[in-house]
Amino acid sequence: MAEQVVEDLRERCATPASLLHDVAAEMADEMRAGLEKEGGSRVKMLLSYVDKLPTGREEGLFYGLDLGGTNFRVLRVKLGGNDKRIVNRESREVAIPTHLMSGSSTELFGFIASELATFVADEDKGNSFANGNKRELGFTFSFPVRQHSISLGTLVKWTKAFCIEDAVGEDVVGKLQTAMEKQGLDIHVAALINDAVGTLAGARYYDEDVIAGVIFGTGTNAAYVEKANAIPKWEGELPKSGDMVINMEWGNYYSCHLPVSEYDQALDKESLNPGEQIYEKLTSGMYLGEIVRRVLLKLSLQSATFGEIDHTKLKTHFHLRTPHISAMHHDETPDLKIVAEKLEETLEIAGTSLETRKMVVEIIDIIARRAARLAAAGLAGILKKLGRDGSIEKRRSVITIDGGMFEHYVKFRKCLETTLSELLGEESSKLVVIKHADDGPGIGAALIAASHSQNR
Ligand code: ADP
Ligand code: MG
Repeated sequence: MAEQVVEDLRERCATPASLLHDVAAEMADEMRAGLEKEGGSRVKMLLSYVDKLPTGREEGLFYGLDLGGTNFRVLRVKLGGNDKRIVNRESREVAIPTHLMSGSSTELFGFIASELATFVADEDKGNSFANGNKRELGFTFSFPVRQHSISLGTLVKWTKAFCIEDAVGEDVVGKLQTAMEKQGLDIHVAALINDAVGTLAGARYYDEDVIAGVIFGTGTNAAYVEKANAIPKWEGELPKSGDMVINMEWGNYYSCHLPVSEYDQALDKESLNPGEQIYEKLTSGMYLGEIVRRVLLKLSLQSATFGEIDHTKLKTHFHLRTPHISAMHHDETPDLKIVAEKLEETLEIAGTSLETRKMVVEIIDIIARRAARLAAAGLAGILKKLGRDGSIEKRRSVITIDGGMFEHYVKFRKCLETTLSELLGEESSKLVVIKHADDGPGIGAALIAASHSQNR
């Protein structure tokens, strides 16, 4: 019985190369459709209005904010210009109190502004903002936003664990600005971006061959550099640079080729956003642990695998988290001691046999591999759209990736990398470099604030 559950899961979650090629080709098609017209695809392909990526020549002191899904960061960077690049950086990170994720927008933005105020207060006195120059800030807000300019955008919807009704459809920068004023902070928000755009900008600052920034953290998203004249839906004036960064919002990608299991269907149905963000629900940190929990629950209810246990924890949604499954997946002790510990600590499943622990690892492996392979197919889709999959452009392409899951989940990361090579083939994969973003998206926001600064 237990074996059957695992066998069915393996079959349902299989991702042979042929399927991944279909996923990649459809990703490229959806990208074209989303660029063609507003609402042309579930992949929204939003204009970021970032048309000047940082070059390394920017100078001055800039602030960044990063509101993702789990943590909140404030930071400041001192840019030396030319070869000096970043001469100083300071940052502070705080966990977002859970109650603020579903309260009111005044509370959330009030919290952000007060953290910022504390941080600004200990600024080095040597940094003078005299001669009429204002402090400038780049705001990384990692939820789908419809941009109207580089520093004006309205929230399309919440994703991940956020759900603050009164903010939907509202101008996010306006909310931040109001909250900052209440704190007595006089700071100009020079850019509103998301983590994918920030990651792209942060890496591009050092390397001109960077073409895309991708996130695998609590959620997933991608941003890339598009030729402005390849965006039919754009009605405005074309930028001087000829380029425009597109915020794909690829977490909402869907294709009938996606290997969706009964567990994914149930998770989606009971989620905050049913029917949406299906690709995200298969590939990102918020969900992988939860999918595994659902499989383990079924296993426990339908077989004697875990013996007589109290199901309270195993039945609690999101109780098993991706860092837990990652720790179990990387367990190299001969008797899978870490797996035993985690099962007991988090799910109150005690006294497991080695065979049972192996089965748990097998389940985790199926879910994490599927995630990593679908992630690689997404990247292959972007390369395909740009003709950088070896089909047209024969030049170096760098994709920079950030997010807690990519950073810490080694098996996910390795599998993503090998799968991308598999999909591109030996020759083409030599031209594609996957790089972990060292700086984080907040720095990217500060850099975009610099490249779009008004103080010059
Ligand atoms: P955010 O996406 O909220 O901005 P991060 O990029 O830091 O934040 O990603 C946090 C997510 O990364 C967590 O929700 C978790 O799913 C995942 N994560 C963090 N640590 C690990 C780990 N050790 N192994 C696997 N996943 C992890
Ligand atoms: Mg983040």
